[in-house]
Amino acid sequence: MKYVFGPVPSKRLGQSLGVDPIPFKTCNWNCIYCQLGRTTPLTNVRRDYFPPRAIVAQVRETLESHQPGEIDWVTFVGSGEPTLHASLGWMIREVKGMTSIPVAVITNGSLMYQPEVREELMPADAVLPTLDAGNEKLYRAINRPHPSLTFESLVDGLIAFRSVYTGRLWLEVMLVRGLNDTEEALRELAAVVQRISPDEVHINLPIRPPAEPWVKPPDDDGLMRAMALLGDIAHVVHPAEGVFDLSGYANVADAVVGIITRHPMREEELMRTLDHWTPSEVQQALADLEAHGGARVILRHGRRFWTAAAGRYGETLTSAPANQRGGCR
Ligand code: SF4
Repeated sequence: MKYVFGPVPSKRLGQSLGVDPIPFKTCNWNCIYCQLGRTTPLTNVRRDYFPPRAIVAQVRETLESHQPGEIDWVTFVGSGEPTLHASLGWMIREVKGMTSIPVAVITNGSLMYQPEVREELMPADAVLPTLDAGNEKLYRAINRPHPSLTFESLVDGLIAFRSVYTGRLWLEVMLVRGLNDTEEALRELAAVVQRISPDEVHINLPIRPPAEPWVKPPDDDGLMRAMALLGDIAHVVHPAEGVFDLSGYANVADAVVGIITRHPMREEELMRTLDHWTPSEVQQALADLEAHGGARVILRHGRRFWTAAAGRYGETLTSAPANQRGGCR
């Protein structure tokens, strides 16, 4: 099992070595915009989904195989929610103990109301939680959380963490047209952001294939409204250009699966990313993967995206692995 990927280019984190401690789509939210598809079923149990020692050993091995300066951040970022891993705190401390490279955690923030989760995140150099809504109704509409999670607990957890955390707290806002890009929604969101007092607000746009086909990025007016209302600490995060490190993959098929499991991509993007191989080698690998259920294609915004075979998306599916046809909700 491969828990470590990249380094991959990230606008916020430079060349980021990803650590994925959670099985594909193990999450307590089911965001309408999730690029990995729908969460089925929602999971809100903290446990060691993978052996923490094996994860940390892979991080060590990967760090040792890179020269100084090749990795800017080590980032815990799941193909699910990383705070669901019960040993996240132990793994962060272990990584901090083996390198001076800063450590980041990208999380939905939903479990930060729990004192032990806040404690576990304390040694990280940056924590990037999500806040897409300024009220419970919109929170449920966009993030579709586990029934036991409330908007109040999300906000209370973020405020409690900020009050003790001295690292960088960067709030991630995914802007969705017609939902949280209206003036009313943004004013409410801005009021909550003010209470949390993050160092920065990163505005993201659902340009990767969203779980639900009707999810659209905001138009220019919506984006400008968000910039104006969320204040000087807010800026738009565009996808990063850069080099994906593919040295850990034995062949092109493994590389394709390793990438699209975390970053669904259009075919031409995959070609550029996988220029270590010829376009015909990549196309052959994609055709084989699709034919044998190793990957799937979905249609979003009129474009074909390659995604993980296990991804479950609403409608507009163009092809499904043979062993999953008919299984997409
Ligand atoms: S976007 Fe993140 S928090 Fe939302 S469902 Fe996907 S993995 Fe979970």
